[in-house]
Amino acid sequence: MAGPVIRQRIALLGATGSIGRSTLDVVARHIDRFQIHALSAHRDVDRLVALCAQFHPAVAIVADTSCYPALRDGLAAAGLSTQARAGTQALEDVAADPGNDTVVAAIVGAAGVASTLAAARAGKRLLLANKESVVLAGELLAQAAAAGKATVLPVDSEHNAIFQCLPADGSRGGVRRLVLTASGGPFRGRSRASLVAVSPDEACAHPRWVMGRKISVDSATLMNKGLEVIEARFLFGVQASSIEVLVHPQSVVHSLVDYVDGSMLAQLGNPDMRTAIAFGLGWPDRLDSGVAPLDLAALGRLDFEAPDPAAFPCLGLAYAALATGGTAPAILNAANEVAVAAFLDGRLPFLGIPGLVEATLSALSPEPAGSLDVLLACDDRARRRATELMGGMTTA
Ligand code: NAD
Ligand code: MG
Repeated sequence: MAGPVIRQRIALLGATGSIGRSTLDVVARHIDRFQIHALSAHRDVDRLVALCAQFHPAVAIVADTSCYPALRDGLAAAGLSTQARAGTQALEDVAADPGNDTVVAAIVGAAGVASTLAAARAGKRLLLANKESVVLAGELLAQAAAAGKATVLPVDSEHNAIFQCLPADGSRGGVRRLVLTASGGPFRGRSRASLVAVSPDEACAHPRWVMGRKISVDSATLMNKGLEVIEARFLFGVQASSIEVLVHPQSVVHSLVDYVDGSMLAQLGNPDMRTAIAFGLGWPDRLDSGVAPLDLAALGRLDFEAPDPAAFPCLGLAYAALATGGTAPAILNAANEVAVAAFLDGRLPFLGIPGLVEATLSALSPEPAGSLDVLLACDDRARRRATELMGGMTTA
């Protein structure tokens, strides 16, 4: 007689977001194989309770502690035995909880860093979508994953593609360059002058991907690709000089690895995050993700072009922060989060985003990124300085 089926137990941090929803879509297709141990949200209690009713996790967490009573009462009213927890410590605790084997890091922004590191230290299978945590604490994350023997599986589509195209034994022998593709976002081909008055809704209208608003703005400024260059540097242990960016508007080639013998390996697929998520959940097995097969004949052509550094200076700022090293990427990330939030709120023009990031990087001196405390203090300082500088920019 066959023994009981052991299902992979998953903590999904950032369950109510775009990556969170795509993850649950894949999980629901393979419910014989996966079991949800924990779900988290920032403040959206109603949505979180609805997901708990569907997936019956042991634990549900709201990051904002003021939402705790609503979550506790909502779970009770729905007749669920899911335990309510709240706050950032609860996120860290659940990331390291022996009740799960797999942590999906799908929180947006630096708010995800502590739980991502906790999952790495605890030796989880870590499906990493939260790229800001790698930008902020790349070195520490690599150390934590090595010490905890965690398996880090990149969910960002470009890094997932590169992971698939690199040698499976983890060696980098024969690799000449990593080539990250970029869709170019909604403003591809536009001049800098034409971007002065673009609105948040225009910036979030991504031509290929449906994503959260923060990453959508990052795609429009190309900061997303800048963050991804830094992410690739730390995930794959290659120098920045070996990482290139190529604009590819169809978003079908998700990235490439260039080898010294002239071979280039690429991973292709329809632009749908469920492919990368299913890869991470199933690895080394392949799972049906619900994504339609790619129809290359219908597509007909694939285009490639170099990025325009004048219209999209954020990419250069990210390379510069990586070259400076230490806490410079953390400063870049913090200033960008402040700038994007202000832009989405109508308090900063689109071109103010690179302006504010550059001004913040110039105003602060980077230091060695020795510990999470140093990085979080730097993150906080950079946010405060960016906010001050923004006051000067908008009244000028
Ligand atoms: P989203 O805004 O749709 O969702 C973010 C999730 O994080 C939500 O569940 C939200 O409740 C939670 N959250 C927000 N602020 C929080 C806080 N302060 N503390 C705790 N939880 C908080 O974002 P998304 O598009 O799903 O992106 C999530 C991450 O994945 C980001 O780092 C993004 O860069 C990365 N990513 C996303 C995509 C995509 O297609 N959406 C692709 C590649 C990488
Ligand atoms: Mg990406």
